[in-house]
Amino acid sequence: MKELYYLKKYFFKYRYRFFLGTFFVVISNIFALFPAQYVRKAFDTVKYSIENNQNENLYFEKNIFYFSALIIVFALLKGLFMFFMRQTIIVMSRMIEYDIKNEIYNHYQKLDLQFYKKNNTGDLMSRISEDVSRVRMFLGPATMYPINMISLFSLIVYTMININLKLTLFVLLPLPIMSISIFYISKTINLKSEKVQRQLAKISTFAQETFSGIRVVKSFINEKLNNSRFENEASIYLNKNISLAKTNAMFFPFMLLLIGLSTLLTIYIGGQEAIKGNITTGNIAEFIIYVNMLTWPMASIGWVTSIIQRAEASQKRINEFLTTKPKITNLNFKNKIKSGEIIFKNVSFTYPVTNITALKNISFKIDKGSSLAIVGKTGSGKSTIANLICRLYDIKNGEIKIDMKPIKNLNLSFLRNDIGYVTQEALLFSDTIYNNISFGTKTKNSLNKIKKYAGIAGIDNEIEKFPNSYNTIIGERGITLSGGQKQRISISRALIKKPKILIFDDCLSALDTKTEDLILKNLKTKFKNTTKVIISHRISSIKDVDQIIVLENGEIIERGKHEELLKSKNLYFEMYNQQLNKNNVHD
Ligand code: ADP
Ligand code: MG
Repeated sequence: MKELYYLKKYFFKYRYRFFLGTFFVVISNIFALFPAQYVRKAFDTVKYSIENNQNENLYFEKNIFYFSALIIVFALLKGLFMFFMRQTIIVMSRMIEYDIKNEIYNHYQKLDLQFYKKNNTGDLMSRISEDVSRVRMFLGPATMYPINMISLFSLIVYTMININLKLTLFVLLPLPIMSISIFYISKTINLKSEKVQRQLAKISTFAQETFSGIRVVKSFINEKLNNSRFENEASIYLNKNISLAKTNAMFFPFMLLLIGLSTLLTIYIGGQEAIKGNITTGNIAEFIIYVNMLTWPMASIGWVTSIIQRAEASQKRINEFLTTKPKITNLNFKNKIKSGEIIFKNVSFTYPVTNITALKNISFKIDKGSSLAIVGKTGSGKSTIANLICRLYDIKNGEIKIDMKPIKNLNLSFLRNDIGYVTQEALLFSDTIYNNISFGTKTKNSLNKIKKYAGIAGIDNEIEKFPNSYNTIIGERGITLSGGQKQRISISRALIKKPKILIFDDCLSALDTKTEDLILKNLKTKFKNTTKVIISHRISSIKDVDQIIVLENGEIIERGKHEELLKSKNLYFEMYNQQLNKNNVHD
């Protein structure tokens, strides 16, 4: 129960509901006892009528009618309080489920990229959905049934002992055996259903990948191969389900067998006691009802135990993530970025999970409002520099300063808020264009403002031509944008924040040179005071910047201005010529 201890704060939060629920359980059980007593009285009335030769049936009928009416009334009352019990305890478990999901979701969002690299999305999803459901089973049924069991058991056994101790002991005998066997059956069922769940997850992931990559699947004519792979996984799923169904099918017959056994014992021992005159025949009927009433609660001990074990395992998985601390911590200094000057001093960086050294001994300084271009082949470390400026990772060697302060001493939210980072993959959300552009701004933007920044990014005219212009939905359920359109919308999203630092990570690659020039010109005139980092492998995008660094294998191999670099005839010069030739071929 160590892991489940984490949930105590939620029990505390809903304590009134919980106590009320417990109260309803006890009340409903008290009402449950009465019908058995009236059945006994009815039986005894039969016997009395036979023995006393009551020829006129009036006495008998009146009594039976009276008892039946009472039985119905008490059954209704019991039902009513059972309804209340479920309404409090099960509803409480749903509320806690909601709270836990929110807690996990919030926590996920705080965790750093390293965490997301280490754990796949499927795992994150299953902990927030399946594992939470299992914990919910503990909070609801596995809390309610034991309370029910304990209160019902004490009430019934107390009543039974008052009638006859010997009979009580005998009829209770099979019950522990039942609990233990049910525990093992439940355990097997849970184990098997977990296997079923895991296989189901595998199938879902496979299907999801197929459908999101449907274009590749179709163009590589891989449908047949995929079909047979899917069929294979689905048949494994089928077999696991059949095996589960077999175990499930054993559950009820087994319970019925044990109930039957107890009933037989009751009749046999009860008969002997009745013959001796220790109890009435009505008592036998009463006991049979009690034994039946106890069966399910006793069986539930086994069931509940296995639920608790499962919940424990799930909560462990949940806790594992909840106790994961973000590696990037906010030291909570209040400073906002004022100038946006960036300094890298002997920065080396190795990615934590893969151990790839992406940067070696990088130093540069970008003054406020000036621009730096980073060029280099794929994998040379360009995006890594961008990641470090946003402090998506912390460095161990070297120093990064923004506004003359070590980056770790800046307030993390302010830092990221003051940086407009256009990532290499233009990732937009399945939402309207308006909302996508507004994404990073916390206040509501007027349409005019949105238009203005879309204009600076050179996409305003194209958006106006869409069916619902800025309210057009993009992504899975909406229109599909071209690579260049996506790039410009993500540029607008960064610009509208009016950041102190702008980072363009190869986000002009899908644009024609005319649009590219327009955007670069706009940056120069409209973002004069913004520090600009432009990553590109196209020389055309960067000829006008204040300084250029050329990266190779994580090292700066050249630096200077466009003309200087051309003169020195190294890698930059080579790249320039290659691109020039390419363009000439295209023209
Ligand atoms: P570029 O942007 O110049 O193409 P990157 O900065 O993306 O290069 O990558 C530099 C090196 O770091 C590459 O070897 C790449 O494989 C590695 N790398 C990039 N991102 C990650 C990451 N998130 N985790 C581990 N290694 C990474
Ligand atoms: Mg890159």
